[in-house]
Amino acid sequence: MLFNLFAWKIRESKLSKRKYYAYPSTHKTLTGECLCGAIAYEINGKLGLVVNCHCSLCRKWHGTAFRTRAAVAKKQFKWVRGEALLSKYSAPSSIKTFCSICGSSLISLYENNPDYIGLPLGGLDQDPGARPVMNLFVGSKAPWYDITDGLPQHDEWPPGGAAAIRAKEESSC
Ligand SMILES: [Zn+2]
Ligand SMILES: [Zn+2]
Repeated sequence: MLFNLFAWKIRESKLSKRKYYAYPSTHKTLTGECLCGAIAYEINGKLGLVVNCHCSLCRKWHGTAFRTRAAVAKKQFKWVRGEALLSKYSAPSSIKTFCSICGSSLISLYENNPDYIGLPLGGLDQDPGARPVMNLFVGSKAPWYDITDGLPQHDEWPPGGAAAIRAKEESSC
């Protein structure tokens, strides 16, 4: 709760013209793995803004009300174990990767934007420090789920589109 209040104060700050701020990363290296542990990955670098995506693709892929994710520069992400066990599924606008053994949802790949990946935060081993800053594609949200986090809501992308929530390539944590 304290973290949320802090975020609100930063967002409301008159000193800044930027509407959203990423939280500082507390880990230089983040790691994650699938449920069975056969596939593992590592991120060295800054996460883009953490968002809750309520689009129907994320809901169905994860079997959840929404997917909490961040865009990460592809060169800052690497598989450290089990890449050969990765399965892929081409969904509209992105390729979904998942473990061929346990079925865990892993990263998204973008054919129209190959320099970035979509990282689901649920697979991380550490607290990345960052917290969700907005809800996306709320126009497609599950009717049985009420959003009560007080964060900004966008029917689709925020102003600026997908690029507005990516980590800038020159940034590092
Ligand atoms: Zn697995
Ligand atoms: Zn989505």
